[in-house]
Amino acid sequence: MTAFNTLPLKPALLASVETLGYTEMTPVQAQSLPPMLARRDVIAQAQTGSGKTAAFGLSLLQSIDVDTIRLQALVLCPTRELADQVSKALRKLAANIPNVKLLTLCGGMPLGPQLASLTHDPHIVVGTPGRVQEHLKRGSLHGGGIKVLVLDEADRMLDMGFSEAIDDIIGRIAKHHQTLLFSATYPEEIRAVSQRVQTDPVVVTVDAPAEQKPAIEQQFIEVEPAQKLDALAQLLAGERGQHALVFCNMRRDVDAVAQELDRRGYSALALHGDMEQRDRDEVLVRFANKSCNVLVATDVAARGLDIAALPLVLCYDVAHDPDTHTHRIGRTGRAGETGLAITLCTPRERPKAANIEEAGGVPLSWRTLKVAPPRGKTLQLAPMKTLVIDAGRQDKLRPGDILGALTGDAGLDAKDIGKIDVFATRAYVAIGRALASKALERLRAGRIKGRNFRVRPLG
Ligand code: AMP
Repeated sequence: MTAFNTLPLKPALLASVETLGYTEMTPVQAQSLPPMLARRDVIAQAQTGSGKTAAFGLSLLQSIDVDTIRLQALVLCPTRELADQVSKALRKLAANIPNVKLLTLCGGMPLGPQLASLTHDPHIVVGTPGRVQEHLKRGSLHGGGIKVLVLDEADRMLDMGFSEAIDDIIGRIAKHHQTLLFSATYPEEIRAVSQRVQTDPVVVTVDAPAEQKPAIEQQFIEVEPAQKLDALAQLLAGERGQHALVFCNMRRDVDAVAQELDRRGYSALALHGDMEQRDRDEVLVRFANKSCNVLVATDVAARGLDIAALPLVLCYDVAHDPDTHTHRIGRTGRAGETGLAITLCTPRERPKAANIEEAGGVPLSWRTLKVAPPRGKTLQLAPMKTLVIDAGRQDKLRPGDILGALTGDAGLDAKDIGKIDVFATRAYVAIGRALASKALERLRAGRIKGRNFRVRPLG
């Protein structure tokens, strides 16, 4: 039986599940929810897309008591992007429980506003380990009432060096709590963490059924170093280049490649770890809402990114190790659609390609590409354009308010309006490129939620 109503969930949670349209539990949910609801520790091997967020989300929402104004559940995530995504999912699941207070606390954000919002304890905190640790140390966050601790994407948190911070956090919260550990992979280090922080955990492993595993076509192309950019540009000129992720091994190449693509008329943006958080957010928003076609990134920057499976992944350099290569190509291909992953390989990089071949156990598929120097400028415009509104959740602005302002007074059609992302102090809305200036003009002339906010185009 896999219906949610077979579980001892609060009616408010069952109602949310219904609103969200979840009719059946996913395999991870079916296996992990019963022990989690029985307050057991659980270690689950679960990928993004498995429904893991709803699994631990329902469980922790079941455990908290809204009338007790204390921090009761803490979710640690490797990146701010994931923390934002988890918070959003939890808010949806909690939609029918009045007065749940959830706070997202991540590094890279100013401390002041976070301290201001901590004058009363929230019930739930979702955050990155470093920042949560800092608040616990300062005493701006109190861990004494925590009943549930979730370690989401634990393998990535270890990769990113958060092990010590996590241990320190555990030392600062209530001794008796339930620990739910989710991880995509199950290396020895994860087992060791589980042994250290969990008590008699229930182990959940679910293999993705073969038919659900996305098909990925892989191609390797040998190029001379001097041809790399031309080859890349040529490969991006195709239809799949309308939404592609390019990986470079080095940060400085990320900038150089993105700038050169931009110069040649492609709509490309760079993403790397040195960028300010706000710039990272904007780049991701623009890529996800299709106002940028090509994202050029380092492996570290792309880690934990929540971008839907893409039609094309291009490796500008061969990854240094097979695991990194696997992560890269895993960004393409969605159920029912074959993804394409192309790796450019210079003669010097051949040994790294051989390692990948050996690790994968299947021969690499090599193809040739006749690299021609560019003929004039390619103009590959992104289909959408992003407008930024200088107001956000703090101003109680919701996506519906923006949609309302655009379709109401501004007279736009809902079909020309793309993704709307509302952050704490800023909101982004994607508009069909041809209508962007009209939308901008109308938004500036009119009001959103009865108020005048500053609106400007991005990029
Ligand atoms: P996650 O693995 O947590 O990233 O979730 C992947 C996606 O699956 C999210 O968009 C969820 O909204 C969705 N989802 C989670 N549980 C279910 C379910 N039982 N039925 C259908 N969709 C679900």
